[in-house]
Amino acid sequence: MKIVKKRLLLSHSELRRQATDLKSLINSINDIILEIDSKGYIIALWSKTHPDIYQLYIEGDLNSIDDILDKNTAKKAREKIVHVIQTKETVTIDFNIKSTSNLKWFEASISPRLNDSNKVVVSCRDVTEQKKLAHSIIVAKEDAEKASKSKSEFLSGMSHELRTPLNAILGFSQVLELDPEAPLTDSQKESVKEIFKAGNHLLELINEVLDLSKIESGKLSISIESVPIKSVMEETLAIIKPFAAKNNIKIITHPTENSNEFVSADHTRLKQILLNLLSNAIKYNKQNGEVTFYHDKINNKFRFHVVDTGIGLSLGDLDEIFKPFHRLNKINNKIEGTGIGLAVAKQLVELMDGKIYVDSQKGIGSHFYVEFPYIDSHIIDDSEILISVERKSYFSENKLYKVLYVEDNYANLRLVERILMQINNIEMLSATSGELSIDLAIAHKPDIILLDINLPGIDGYEVFKRLKLYDETNNIPIVAISAHAMQKDIEKGLSLGFTDYITKPINIPNFIATISNILTDNDSTNVP
Ligand code: ADP
Repeated sequence: MKIVKKRLLLSHSELRRQATDLKSLINSINDIILEIDSKGYIIALWSKTHPDIYQLYIEGDLNSIDDILDKNTAKKAREKIVHVIQTKETVTIDFNIKSTSNLKWFEASISPRLNDSNKVVVSCRDVTEQKKLAHSIIVAKEDAEKASKSKSEFLSGMSHELRTPLNAILGFSQVLELDPEAPLTDSQKESVKEIFKAGNHLLELINEVLDLSKIESGKLSISIESVPIKSVMEETLAIIKPFAAKNNIKIITHPTENSNEFVSADHTRLKQILLNLLSNAIKYNKQNGEVTFYHDKINNKFRFHVVDTGIGLSLGDLDEIFKPFHRLNKINNKIEGTGIGLAVAKQLVELMDGKIYVDSQKGIGSHFYVEFPYIDSHIIDDSEILISVERKSYFSENKLYKVLYVEDNYANLRLVERILMQINNIEMLSATSGELSIDLAIAHKPDIILLDINLPGIDGYEVFKRLKLYDETNNIPIVAISAHAMQKDIEKGLSLGFTDYITKPINIPNFIATISNILTDNDSTNVP
């Protein structure tokens, strides 16, 4: 009997020791631990970190999962408990508990209870902070996406605003050059050529601004080709010379003897970089200063140099100038600029496998140079695309085609009218609003409709939709003509069913080719 009692005492103390161990173990855990039966009744609950919940349990106010979870979550939890009891697998569930003051998120892991097949052990971890963090990341991401979207919309809108007047400048300079009834004198031709070239460069720059966001997001596409050094330097000089003259800056060039040298670069971007360096050398020069523009070749690398006799830069400035929107010489704020030119130039140079360097001395002047791979062998493709449109017939038959042009901008209307005048067999109708164009299209059944997208009242997309509703008009090819020239705009237009999408400023030869192709295609499909 004594022995039995002793053993009992020993077991008791062992049990107490184990209970104490278990308690300290549970107290060291930050989770709420529950024992729950298959019906959702709470058999036991331990929690050090959530005394409020523990208190509820102790006072008898927390007996079942229904006392703390909302109806739906309680139902889901009960299903999971049954699943764990049946399969003996551990599962997890997320839920939240709303109190008057706050909302707490928990992640619970439900495991089968050893030695009792009708119960489960649930450990609930408070994940409110993680949830808040994840939420703030999502909100920040959404905000960034919104900002990026409004930036693209702004860029697209701005590009539209600039492209519309540019369309008139480029279009009418071409019309002047091509008008057979009023031929230009040689000097007028030269001037028109300069207007056309400078306008084209402006257009390229608008595209660069649009590309700025692409550079930042690493999505800029450049097309590397064999760029003829002589012509790229001449083109750049022709654009920059009037600016230098206006600022009383002398431009000195070294003769480009070998006209067959090529550099590996993107033609447009290279010109943009050189123009940026040259215009800076002029802008930040001294009165009656000089800019030397020359090239050389070192170890299969080709370099373009721009040296000025200007205000120069200090060593500290040299680190700053390639950062976007950093403008030095704040005292000299009369000088126009945005502070992005060199940042863009540097990124473009590097995209083309090149490098940009600068040496400068304050008060003496600066020497910027860019370096690109030199090309020995090349495919000479120096042929200039000359716009030589004569008044001619593009169609074999003597049929008269009707073109309806829907456009609210008078200059654009006149421009297309002048272009179409170059072609025989075409009669142009025009409408300045979407509503009017639908009536005209039904009445005249044109062979092709050229539709501006940005119209007052109903826009081009709506006009397109409505034209597709009428038997008289639903088979007429419709070509969008728009200053919205971003790839996504073009894709949108084509996916809606436009036969083609022409961007402004209009490239006259391409425009004529597109129209005549559509008209002749339409003829052949209409042949019985
Ligand atoms: P922007 O000329 O539009 O301000 P850039 O990015 O081309 O922008 O140039 C950044 C800054 O670097 C300029 O604001 C100017 O302070 C300085 N800088 C650029 N080129 C020269 C130069 N040739 N001489 C002196 N300072 C220059």
